[in-house]
Amino acid sequence: MSKRFTVHAGVMRALVAGVACGLTVAWLFHFVLPRTPWEFDRWLGGENAAGRERLGPQLAERPVWEVIDEGRSSAIEAAVGHNNAGVALARNREWPRAAEHLRAALRSDPHNASIRTNLQQVLLAWGVDEFHDGTLASAFELFGEASELRADPEVEYWLGRAWWEKGEPTRARTVWEKALQQFPEHPRLLLALADFWEQRDDRPRALEYLVQARAAGIDSAALLQKIERLSREVDAEWDYFTTRSARFDFRHPAFDDPTVLDLIISSFENAYDALLQRLGAGPTAPVRVVLYPLADFYAVTRSPDWAGGVYTGRIQLPVGGLGESSRSQLERVARHELAHALITEWSGSRAPAWLQEGLAMWCEDDHPGERWRWAKELTARHGGTSLDALPQSFSTLEKQVAEAAYATSYLAVVSLEERYGIRRLLSFMRLAAEHSWRDAFVGEFGQSFEDFAASLG
Ligand SMILES: [Zn+2]
Repeated sequence: MSKRFTVHAGVMRALVAGVACGLTVAWLFHFVLPRTPWEFDRWLGGENAAGRERLGPQLAERPVWEVIDEGRSSAIEAAVGHNNAGVALARNREWPRAAEHLRAALRSDPHNASIRTNLQQVLLAWGVDEFHDGTLASAFELFGEASELRADPEVEYWLGRAWWEKGEPTRARTVWEKALQQFPEHPRLLLALADFWEQRDDRPRALEYLVQARAAGIDSAALLQKIERLSREVDAEWDYFTTRSARFDFRHPAFDDPTVLDLIISSFENAYDALLQRLGAGPTAPVRVVLYPLADFYAVTRSPDWAGGVYTGRIQLPVGGLGESSRSQLERVARHELAHALITEWSGSRAPAWLQEGLAMWCEDDHPGERWRWAKELTARHGGTSLDALPQSFSTLEKQVAEAAYATSYLAVVSLEERYGIRRLLSFMRLAAEHSWRDAFVGEFGQSFEDFAASLG
């Protein structure tokens, strides 16, 4: 007889990844400064997080630890003692000592499936902790040992994650594909492979895996939304061409006037140079940009008609009626979207909306800070919007409230830049990838975000 206990491993972070954040530059190519910063925030991160929670319990609840009854005939006494000691330690998350006992137990009774499972689950949980602590070499070792004990899709999933984290996504893919042969309906393997293909910009393949994941029983609004979005993109872009420049991959339909594409390419390259000059950094190349005819852009991205671009891991832009006179506006839009790409990358998608939008606007400026007065007047008209009260995403705000939110975010970034300089802002972004952004704020600027927000008045 054996007793089974269910544990929340607390380690399961599902992956409906890929979409980092999507933010739209709104003022199309028609306005003159000061512009209304209409932006439509299509940030899906929050929804992903919600999807994760929905996924979590389904996947994380696994019967793991088995205490072996001493009376069990097949059990060898020493093995039982070590197993039960290991299980007790595992319940307290004392992984190294638990693993030590379970290894000893398995040596005494190598054919005992319960001990094997227990040891594997301890190694997995320990490895995931190491993974999150950033000690990748140790995580590798533990996942590798766990993988040799018996076939388990979660172990293979994490082994793949470790390869991915190490910068070898192709090896991650190999691990996941192999595991999927044995566990063809494992949702997280399917989602991981979908993510792999989306990163590779093979959307039809990503879509296939997502649809399979849904068929395998993942019931999540975020997943459904992602399937719908990818379907619209695949439908719209099936006959698009790819044009590569030094730092960009452009996907686009055939242009009647080829100079339009040249104009767009040189504007983006210029914008990248400007970002390098202003920040000393740009997003990792190649940056993917999709150019849609106006009507397609709105149909695909579901942006409102005043929107001028969206960032969802790719820069998506509506193009129509562009000519040489649009160049400076195009460069502004490109700087704005490139800033989103960089912030998303450096902060691991964890930058708050005010930082995303404020810094993107600052980068968009021809002269950084040039809209200070406009933003001041606007926020004053709105009776002052507290930076600390801004929502995680601006997408649900009414137009006028959204405008004030953008202006407030902009003022925050301009003052941070004036007080501390842009380097410190960038290092704050990096810190936010590892800590909560509020902790990162204290770490970088030596004051709480609340105090800073209050100081803006
Ligand atoms: Zn934006």
